[in-house]
Amino acid sequence: MMAGVADALQELGTSLSNGWVDFVKNSGYDERMIFIIGTMAVHSTVFWGMNIFYYICYRYELWPERKIQGKTLPNYELAKECVVHCLVNHFCVAPFTLYFGFPLMQYFGMEVGAPIPNWTVFLRDILVGILVNDTLFYWGHRFLHHKSVYRYVHKQHHTFKVNTGISSEYAHPIEHIFSNIVPIAGNWVMGSHIIVFWVWLVIRIGEIVETHSGYDFAWSPYSIFDWQGGADRHEFHHSHEHLGCYGSFTMFWDWVCDTDKNYKRYKARKDAKKFALENAVAAKKME
Ligand SMILES: [Zn+2]
Ligand SMILES: [Zn+2]
Repeated sequence: MMAGVADALQELGTSLSNGWVDFVKNSGYDERMIFIIGTMAVHSTVFWGMNIFYYICYRYELWPERKIQGKTLPNYELAKECVVHCLVNHFCVAPFTLYFGFPLMQYFGMEVGAPIPNWTVFLRDILVGILVNDTLFYWGHRFLHHKSVYRYVHKQHHTFKVNTGISSEYAHPIEHIFSNIVPIAGNWVMGSHIIVFWVWLVIRIGEIVETHSGYDFAWSPYSIFDWQGGADRHEFHHSHEHLGCYGSFTMFWDWVCDTDKNYKRYKARKDAKKFALENAVAAKKME
């Protein structure tokens, strides 16, 4: 049974890989163009797709029990400015960054038209991507909170005290480089295949949009386990400026440096309040 499933998966992997190689060969585009168009498509589809979903949630007040800051939403004018900012970044800045970034990716060994690597290489590269991202993001983010640089760079991102998914990319250009581009360097340095890089990008963009969504869904793959980061911690980071929680995918560095102690206290208070309220409601029903 298991051998049959493994064979079927192997066969599927081989045909997808062959299909990809044929597509690159016959597409009529050079590898640089495939890299630029494909990366922009992956980035925009995940970012705007997820944000449309969250917009519907805000608009129709869906799952209110999962909304971290209740009915509160950010200022409308700020949200509008943020949408324009993201559109300019996605469709004006990104093409140039990707055009000039491609030779660097090639220098580190990124392959475009080669067969897609097997699942062990895939998993290895994604794990390295998460570990490198977690480390660079945490230290870069802490640096941006230093009082000598905060107001010049990171303050813009913290204009949002209540988050929405789009606020994840509302940042000063220097922060964009430090916090959003450099931390994804794990896969460049590994010389990952372009398909692995795109899968990594889906995971990373999904994570930043979800942690800024203002929703804490129990089923979110980014906060299933206690050692993960998640939306609740990052919402605290925005609503309680300079009180810690600098991490990303995992709480490893916050745990090592004890920079989430304020969040733990806040969470304990919040949970106790919720518990007391539930008990009061239950007691009232019994009367
Ligand atoms: Zn911050
Ligand atoms: Zn943020």
